[in-house]
Amino acid sequence: MEKTHVLPKPEAPIGLAARPTRSQEFYDRIKEKFAEERDLRLKYRPEGTAQYLTDLDGTFARYEIDTYASEPAPREAINDTVECLFIGGGFSALLTSARLRERGVESIRIVERGADVGGTWYWNRYPGVACDVVAYDYLPLLDELDYVPRDHYAKGPEIFAHCQAIASKYNLYELAVFQTTVTSTVWDDAAQMWHITTDRGDHMKARFVICANGTLSKPKLSKIKGMETFKGHSFHTSRWDYAYTRPDLSGLEDKVVGIIGTGATAVQAVPGLGAAARELFVFQRTPSSIDIRDDWATDPNWARKLRPGWQAERRARARMQPQMTEAQKARSAAMSREEKIRLQENANIEAMTRIHQRIDQIVKNKETAEALKPWYMLMCKRPCFHNDYLPTFNRPNVHLVDTHGKGITEINEKGPVFEGKQYELDVLIYATGFEVQKTGIYNQIKGERGLDLNDKYSTGIRTLLGIHTQGFPNLFIMGGYQASFQFNLTDMLQAQGDHIAACIDYARRNGYQSIGAAPGAEEWWVQEVIRHRGKTGRNQECTPGYYNFEGESQRRQDGNYNGGFFQYCNHLTDVQARMSQHFVFTKK
Ligand code: NDP
Repeated sequence: MEKTHVLPKPEAPIGLAARPTRSQEFYDRIKEKFAEERDLRLKYRPEGTAQYLTDLDGTFARYEIDTYASEPAPREAINDTVECLFIGGGFSALLTSARLRERGVESIRIVERGADVGGTWYWNRYPGVACDVVAYDYLPLLDELDYVPRDHYAKGPEIFAHCQAIASKYNLYELAVFQTTVTSTVWDDAAQMWHITTDRGDHMKARFVICANGTLSKPKLSKIKGMETFKGHSFHTSRWDYAYTRPDLSGLEDKVVGIIGTGATAVQAVPGLGAAARELFVFQRTPSSIDIRDDWATDPNWARKLRPGWQAERRARARMQPQMTEAQKARSAAMSREEKIRLQENANIEAMTRIHQRIDQIVKNKETAEALKPWYMLMCKRPCFHNDYLPTFNRPNVHLVDTHGKGITEINEKGPVFEGKQYELDVLIYATGFEVQKTGIYNQIKGERGLDLNDKYSTGIRTLLGIHTQGFPNLFIMGGYQASFQFNLTDMLQAQGDHIAACIDYARRNGYQSIGAAPGAEEWWVQEVIRHRGKTGRNQECTPGYYNFEGESQRRQDGNYNGGFFQYCNHLTDVQARMSQHFVFTKK
């Protein structure tokens, strides 16, 4: 029998600003509960990331098929040379290309698996898709495109359209090839060029290659016994089958629908599904934290008053290091490291307590409300913001199937089975997420003297700034490990794109054929990553999820750079200012 837990009664009212105000005993008891919940999940899935299926072939290949485009039209194989080639056509490629164009680079090709640019926003078209980062920050190049987002938080279709607008403005459709997957990227030592082959029989050459394949691009499925035997309809959220559901979801009116997973995607999709389906079963392993979504339509008067360059100013302000007052500095100096950590943890627990209280206020069924409460520190998992997710569980046709951390482990021809109970479904939707930050996604990358990037990384990731890796000249990696993490991902991608454009520009201006990370520079960065990752035990303390490699704690350097985005940007600028110290070059 698992122990049952009751949240200690709050001793004081909780405000929005989560300040620790209660006895230490209160916080310690919650921390214990967090640890027990984490251990339970680790016990159920000791295999870590191996619990997921990422190579979707055979019967599972259909979960990756593009549901938004028709079969690719036959075309001649391409056999030409470009200067810059992007693997992937999402924000990474778009933002870097914009900067390259500004620096006069003309020959730019995007090779993209989807039928258009957009990446994440091409693939994720599930009902309710939107972004949780304020649109005026998230949507990039607003100054350049003279565009003001329609709402405080942008919805998927607007973001996708913005990606297309960027590609049009910077003439990126001209050389782009869509519905094409890069299968190998091989460096030619003699010619100092990359050879790129694709699944369409192309053999292109490029001087510079930018791996812009995104951080969460490849859909993954939980390995569930018998899942291939399900006789109903099924798909992954990133390949939404609107032919089945119909665009307004009216195709679900007479259907019993199941959704596996309760991460950020499911949180957005569930309200629409709950409203449309005859019955909806939400299969939960770990609940997400659901905070208020403070959305509004952009005020046209505010928008009219914006002066050119407003977004650049806004971004520059956001990047500024927060300054402590003298009093704060003195307080901080008087505290031990342990005290500081305790204070942060207590504040975090306050925030989670507020999340719990919100659930109690909204969800009418007490048992469902209890099951929807997340028991981990905020930020152990991706925090979610939604106003309709929790109320959806008050609908009579919506049922939460809480698996208490175990997850669905069996599916038969009728649907999932949990604790002996059969859930008979017409359609099963997998909201089980994506493979995380895999540089060579779909692709084999071979550098100098045939060195395979996977082999190089097999003993630990080694990069300079998460962007360059020694032995792979003229190759740039975006959104990969050893780079900083930033909640506003486009800010981070723009910082990397600016840097890559500066490197390429430097090589072009100085007549260099290639630019590659110097061994010492790479070693410096690896040590920098390790130093910052060692600062906190947070990864191990968190409940498993993709943020901490599902609880695999042995990964010393295979993660993000934890020194902060501000510091990361400083390093980028610093490296650009002293190129010759950080890179090796070859002349034409
Ligand atoms: P996630 O990886 O975050 O979620 C996968 C979900 O599947 C988890 O809830 C997981 O449970 C659950 N799961 C896996 N296997 C099983 C099983 N056998 N039984 C039951 N549940 C299972 O994927 P998402 O697509 O939701 O989100 C990925 C990321 O995309 C987000 O973290 C965010 O960065 C981004 N995103 C951002 C959005 C935004 O801006 N609002 C919207 C959507 C996505 P468990 O937690 O226990 O592992």
